[in-house]
Amino acid sequence: MNGSELCNERVSRLGFGTMRLPVLPDGSIDASQVERMVDLAMAGGVNYFDTAFPYHGGMSEVVLGKALSRYPRTSYYLATKYPGHQFASSYDPAGVFTEQLGKCGVEYFDFYLLHNVCESSLPVYTDPQWGIIDYFVEQKRQGRIRHLGFSTHARPETLEAFLDRYGNALDFCQIQLNWLDWTLQNGKRKYELLTERKVPIVVMEPLRGGKLTRLSASETEPLTALRPGSSAAEWSFGFLMDLDNVRVVLSGMSDVAQMEDNIRIFSEHRPLSETERNALLQIAEDLKDAVPCTACRYCTDGCPMALDIPMLIAAYNDVKFSGGFTVPMQMDALDESKRPSACIACGACAAVCPQGIPIPDVLADFADRLDKGPKWADICREREEAERKRKANG
Ligand code: SF4
Ligand code: SF4
Repeated sequence: MNGSELCNERVSRLGFGTMRLPVLPDGSIDASQVERMVDLAMAGGVNYFDTAFPYHGGMSEVVLGKALSRYPRTSYYLATKYPGHQFASSYDPAGVFTEQLGKCGVEYFDFYLLHNVCESSLPVYTDPQWGIIDYFVEQKRQGRIRHLGFSTHARPETLEAFLDRYGNALDFCQIQLNWLDWTLQNGKRKYELLTERKVPIVVMEPLRGGKLTRLSASETEPLTALRPGSSAAEWSFGFLMDLDNVRVVLSGMSDVAQMEDNIRIFSEHRPLSETERNALLQIAEDLKDAVPCTACRYCTDGCPMALDIPMLIAAYNDVKFSGGFTVPMQMDALDESKRPSACIACGACAAVCPQGIPIPDVLADFADRLDKGPKWADICREREEAERKRKANG
């Protein structure tokens, strides 16, 4: 397993992100599979484990902490986050932090992050009324946090202003980075800014919630020509491993097979050539128009219409990327109250979206396209007619 240095600790370059753990049919985390994944990780040299207060309704910390408790405390690095980005009427860093230590069954965190510092959460994190940053600086002084950092989806200028003000108190930063967002979300600028400031980087969403593994054969044709047999995950992880200031790449793995595959990829990494890197970035240019949803689901809890927003955006992208032949069928199969047209444009979702997606506008456009586009019943009729003609012609 490739390793690197993060805040003077020797960490594995692959980290186990626990936002998308395997679940059982009742929706609860499949804890025994998580234990097997942790065992594989530890045996394969993965020593960085990342969770957060809200993941899996608060249960990710519990299940991960239990799985890790079977190992000596100094044999792994545990990271979690304070949820100042979740809007509430009051914030209690001491209460949340104490609860997190209990849920994870530990006496300290190796890495602790302010979760999702961005344009909308910045007023909370910097409000003296809550004293959030001061509280965590004090926990670090007392040894209950070994390294204090932050995760962010902020625009580069906001990130720069935050670093100007608080950079001295923070040891590392977690950003969304992958070859698509290098272009699409100013990832290159954020990487360069953090590197200039000597802030080491932990990467999240290296596969963009799996999106980068689901590109069509025609989209990835230039890559296949250059390295036949390399998977989309190998390309994506390879791109990040070639960036010196990326110390850990978190992959939100959902089963044992993904863990095995990722350990293999990180152990066998062969750097990308300039031609290969340029081929990836050219595909990013071609895909720029996509709505950058990572399926984090931060937006769904507050939707008064209980819409499955990430599912609808994925379908919308499908329509925009490739015509989305089956999308009208998928939408027809939904109850009318769950379709894009049911959005009442209240804006609650957009206010919490870390990707800054104008969700009501996207859903309005989607509803419009569905309204004006071919209806599934018509598509079926046309296909039946074509099939009938094909048979009649022998
Ligand atoms: S704007 Fe639409 S999708 Fe967003 S929370 Fe309101 S009703 Fe739901
Ligand atoms: S729309 Fe935004 S908040 Fe909702 S799932 Fe996608 S990225 Fe997350």
